[in-house]
Amino acid sequence: MMVQENVPLSPLTTLKVGGAAKFFIEAKTITDVGEAVSFARSRNLPLFALGGGSNLVIADSGWPGLVLKIALHGMEERSEDGKTLFEVGAGEQWDKFVARAVAGNCAGVECLSGIPGSVGGTPVQNVGAYGQEVAETVTSVLVFDLEDGQVRELCAQACGFSYRTSIFNTTARGRYIILRVTYALMPGGAPRIQYADLKKHFAGWGVTPTLTDTREAVRRIRASKAMLITPGDEDCRSAGSFFKNPVLTPEQYAELTKRAAAKGLEIPSYPALEARRKVSAAWLVEHSGFSKGYSSGRVGISRKHALAIVNRGDATAAEIVAMKEHIQQRVEAIWGVRLDPEPVFVGF
Ligand SMILES: Cc1cc2nc3c(=O)[nH]c(=O)nc-3n(C[C@H](O)[C@H](O)[C@H](O)COP(=O)(O)OP(=O)(O)OC[C@H]3O[C@@H](n4cnc5c(N)ncnc54)[C@H](O)[C@@H]3O)c2cc1C
Repeated sequence: MMVQENVPLSPLTTLKVGGAAKFFIEAKTITDVGEAVSFARSRNLPLFALGGGSNLVIADSGWPGLVLKIALHGMEERSEDGKTLFEVGAGEQWDKFVARAVAGNCAGVECLSGIPGSVGGTPVQNVGAYGQEVAETVTSVLVFDLEDGQVRELCAQACGFSYRTSIFNTTARGRYIILRVTYALMPGGAPRIQYADLKKHFAGWGVTPTLTDTREAVRRIRASKAMLITPGDEDCRSAGSFFKNPVLTPEQYAELTKRAAAKGLEIPSYPALEARRKVSAAWLVEHSGFSKGYSSGRVGISRKHALAIVNRGDATAAEIVAMKEHIQQRVEAIWGVRLDPEPVFVGF
């Protein structure tokens, strides 16, 4: 196990801001994870588990303890009860797994094509896009429990998945290191074409799209919004969508639609659990004076996606946070809705 010191973290993230890790270890095996945890314990260091760095804002002061880069690899496949189970190492690239599943004609993750980051990152915020989320296919998650040093398997129910949440980013935040995730996919299953953008893409095709067609369509749509990491596209220097779509109570929703109607506007919304409504965060941002391409110094809004805050080059984490707060304040003042950020803030 190699312990490095003062390792710059910004190159390990998609947003490219922030300082260094005091200590840094890359874990390729479960034994490495155990040894790294002992190292942190023996020096009383806070530990942060790093995946692909695609959902992070690292503070300019960096991380004062140990950053443990999860690099556990491996992808195994077997059949069980008519499904194909994939056991995937947390350090595998998520899109590499999706590519393999689609090539093997297994349905269940095709709409999640092109999402950056690692397999281990996907259960954390119950990654979702284009009408699918990993909660639908994760059957279990193998974890290292920092509370008692044990390795254990959590079933999907124990992960507490909901919209962009799980126990890993709420009630048990910081408790588990994810080592491996098992997904159950449907061999020969049909692609999920429910999301408006996908339906539009395939309108008039005449033939039923395959899983491969769907993967290609999703990647193409994502690229047009700079939601696919594309070398040379500076709108990709982001952490993806910076705000979650607010989920409102009927009363909050009524108040919001009243404010919109007074301006002659209608806000896009979708039904959510327990009679709630999920409203479009992108719409709220755009109707609060932040259009695509907005810039303030070295920080701005993507030219292709109203929800992505981008680093236009050499921005600091403080500048990113200032932009986030500016947007939150304006949206709240105009619409009475508080936007919650989606990325994880590290070292603040
Ligand atoms: C261009 C772009 C597009 C995106 N599109 C989407 C999208 O469509 N849908 C969506 O849901 N998200 C999207 N994201 C956000 C991001 O890609 C996902 O949340 C991704 O799953 C994060 O994984 P990661 O490995 O990069 O995690 P990181 O960013 O490294 O970490 C994020 C959090 O997960 C924790 N974590 C990561 N790995 C582990 C592990 N092995 N054990 C314990 N904790 C761990 C970290 O500690 C941290 O708290 C996008 C991001 C970008 C930059």
